[in-house]
Amino acid sequence: MRTVLVTGAAGFIGFNFVRHLLGADADTRVVALDKLTYAGNPRSIALLDGEPRFRFVRGDIADRELVRALLREHRPAALVNLAAESHVDRSIVGPDDFIHTNVVGTFHLLDEVRRLGDTLPGFRFLHVSTDEVYGALGPTGAFHEGSAYQPSSPYSASKAASDHLVRAYHHTYGAPVLTTNCSNNYGPFQYPEKLIPLTIANALAGQPLPVYGQGANIRDWIYVEDHCRAVACVLARGRVGETYVIGARSEQRNIDVVRTICAELDRIAPRPGGGRYDELIEFVTDRPGHDFRYAIDPSKIERELGWRPEVGFADGIRRTIAWYVENEAWTRATLGR
Ligand code: NAD
Repeated sequence: MRTVLVTGAAGFIGFNFVRHLLGADADTRVVALDKLTYAGNPRSIALLDGEPRFRFVRGDIADRELVRALLREHRPAALVNLAAESHVDRSIVGPDDFIHTNVVGTFHLLDEVRRLGDTLPGFRFLHVSTDEVYGALGPTGAFHEGSAYQPSSPYSASKAASDHLVRAYHHTYGAPVLTTNCSNNYGPFQYPEKLIPLTIANALAGQPLPVYGQGANIRDWIYVEDHCRAVACVLARGRVGETYVIGARSEQRNIDVVRTICAELDRIAPRPGGGRYDELIEFVTDRPGHDFRYAIDPSKIERELGWRPEVGFADGIRRTIAWYVENEAWTRATLGR
């Protein structure tokens, strides 16, 4: 039985990743470390109650003693770092937590791993990061592993700093690290503050659907399960010290995403009082420094590791909307509505 320490396991991608790991390999057990910030969801973790291969520990990745004790006690084969402050808007209002978790927290994880030296044979540290570290693209081109770092928000700057630390620990100390930089994820269990779950939650509650500017910003969307498969693939077969960018070649303008959600909700969950959901769309003042476009060229992970996304946007967004409709109570409880 191998143990994987997963940080941020109560968050959106972390929880999906834990479920993927436990489902994909009966010989894997997961120790989850999560601080349970507003984005960490105890309701998600409770779904794994009674699973003997899962253990949850509430705590901060920046707490060195706790991290050291967990590494010593469980002697994991790998650590996958998904703990983060992850919302750009929150980073603009209050960057402190972003520096604490994304920079100091990642540093403490790396440094505790370094202190273990060779006592964990075959150990791998996979740092999950974002394409936002590369800044914004114009109408053409795509990010790749050699793209220059040009973060624009306190969030992306803190993730960029963590990526640099990860790489430096490899070059300086030979730490067995891997880094992934992924595009925008969507799917079940995402805290309803990001575009897709927020739009669905607000629509179902009959509230306005805010869209920044004219909704012309473009994001490259990946279904969360495809991201989880990619992370597992890099963890198993990626080359130590390397970076892999992950994306599903699925660019969409924000306004088109919102209109797609409205049309699907009109079909499967019509508004109780009549009318169409897109009547709730409200264009709001754009976010300061809003990156225009992100896009990923995932050729390296496709070529080297044979990973391919399996869920197209049309299918993924339908599944996602259906999940939030069926789990409206989860959303309401999560938002305290
Ligand atoms: P999330 O905000 O949903 O979850 C983050 C989790 O980390 C929460 O459970 C939270 O409680 C936990 N956490 C926060 N601070 C912590 C700390 N100090 N110690 C321990 N746990 C802490 O985020 P997400 O969307 O699941 O993103 C996970 C990672 O993936 C982040 O690093 C993010 O940058 C990256 N990423 C996200 C996306 C996306 O579209 N969501 C895309 C690419 C990369």
